[in-house]
Amino acid sequence: MTVASILNVKGHDVFTETGDKTLRQICTILGERGIGAIVIVDKRGGIEGIVSERDVVRSIAKHGDDVLDQPVTEHMTKKVVTCSESDTVNDVMAKMTSGRFRHLPVVKDGLLTGLISIGDVVKHRIAQIEREAEDMRNYIAMS
Ligand code: AMP
Repeated sequence: MTVASILNVKGHDVFTETGDKTLRQICTILGERGIGAIVIVDKRGGIEGIVSERDVVRSIAKHGDDVLDQPVTEHMTKKVVTCSESDTVNDVMAKMTSGRFRHLPVVKDGLLTGLISIGDVVKHRIAQIEREAEDMRNYIAMS
């Protein structure tokens, strides 16, 4: 199963924001939309960074809640790992595991075309395992 097949079900919408937002504004957006991370983009839509709830917690724990009024660019991760639509679910799991993060922007021809979260991966893996179990039950019933 590929990233493209996950996006076909989930859709290609990605929540993005620009780097001039404060961490407080980012928190509001994360809370209102019920999401765990936002991709920060430049004016042309290029990826500048990613900020997740974990960055917010880490920055407040380290520097106090004054950081909430600072620009998100000071608290995001700038070196963003991405995947392509042709990557498999196993490729995505390997990237998330080795990078220790739960969000992976999808890039096609230099443009952001989706975002895969660990929740999407788990959902599709469970569906795949259930299909395999069903196939095995059918196979056993026929033999
Ligand atoms: P997460 O597990 O996604 O909440 O993120 C944990 C940490 O990894 C945070 O510091 C994020 O900014 C960072 N992070 C999340 N996704 C990515 C990614 N695709 N590439 C690089 N860093 C990431």
